[in-house]
Amino acid sequence: MLDHNASVLLIYTGGTIGMVEDAEGALMPFDFNALQEFVPELKRFQFTIDTIQFENPVDSSDMNPDKWAKLVWIIEDNYAGYDGFVILHGTDTMAYSASALSFMLENLDKPVILTGSQLPIGKIRTDGKENLLTALEIAVEKTPEGTPLVTEVCIFFQNLLMRGNRTTKINADNFKAFNSFNFPVLAEAGTQIRYRHDLMHRPLRGSTPKFHYALDPKVAIVKIFPGMSAEVLKANSTIPHLKAIVLETYGAGDAPREQWFLDIVEEWIKQGIVVLNVTQCASGSVDMSRYQAGKRLQELGVLSGYDITTEAAVAKLMFLFGLGLTRGEIKIALKMSIVGEITV
Ligand code: ASP
Repeated sequence: MLDHNASVLLIYTGGTIGMVEDAEGALMPFDFNALQEFVPELKRFQFTIDTIQFENPVDSSDMNPDKWAKLVWIIEDNYAGYDGFVILHGTDTMAYSASALSFMLENLDKPVILTGSQLPIGKIRTDGKENLLTALEIAVEKTPEGTPLVTEVCIFFQNLLMRGNRTTKINADNFKAFNSFNFPVLAEAGTQIRYRHDLMHRPLRGSTPKFHYALDPKVAIVKIFPGMSAEVLKANSTIPHLKAIVLETYGAGDAPREQWFLDIVEEWIKQGIVVLNVTQCASGSVDMSRYQAGKRLQELGVLSGYDITTEAAVAKLMFLFGLGLTRGEIKIALKMSIVGEITV
């Protein structure tokens, strides 16, 4: 049900969606106050749309934990005043931001929907209008009881509403830029928007939203490849204060069985680094009991990332270390789904 009396806060962080062409055809960010000029359809919505923007909009390549904290602050500061939040964001790191926000905004009982576009909103063939207009509509959808229909951090892109921490950017050119390989989409927009109510993440009963700001960025991603040398792998052992490594392995969590490789991984674990095994495959899950190579990693103390995306793995580790948990507590939390980021 569309709530026409609702209000949405539209937050512009930067990215292609907010660009227009200047006289020479070069792309530049437009004044967000002029949004109505480029998207006159906004006037036809009966609900209220207020806008706020980063004072310096960024290409999403410049996103970082400080900017995520800024988004959390904007949402916390305005939480009571709005029924939903739509964040306009560059596509390049949108899956990382959606993952991070899914952990930082605990017990969310309102929608936070990230969207953007592959073509600037000022271009005739832009995909930005469609993405923006439908994301806004989803942000004011209510249940028959009058509560928000979506109560989690999502990405809406090219007709699909996806759980934010399950998404990956899959295409640099195509309008279908995101996919959620290991979890079904939460809604599909055609002539009607069809929601999967059964799949929506819901806040704990009786709980209130909690806003987290601290993330610990001492996390590395190590992607293995055939021919990787011991020197390259070992370089990670020398990173000061490194807390966790997302080890991107093959298939179901396999890695070389050569002794030099296992010795380096063992050294990391002895140093107290949490090593999380995440598959390089776009879909499917790590199962370290399937092959000998995986079993060796498990014996050394490498943890399974199950079917988590690399983006969500990085965000979850930063979040858990940011909470100041012990390594033992973090190992337990990595086996659990906090906001639907893994299938358990
Ligand atoms: N480089 C841009 C960004 O991520 C691309 C985009 O917006 O789609 O900010």
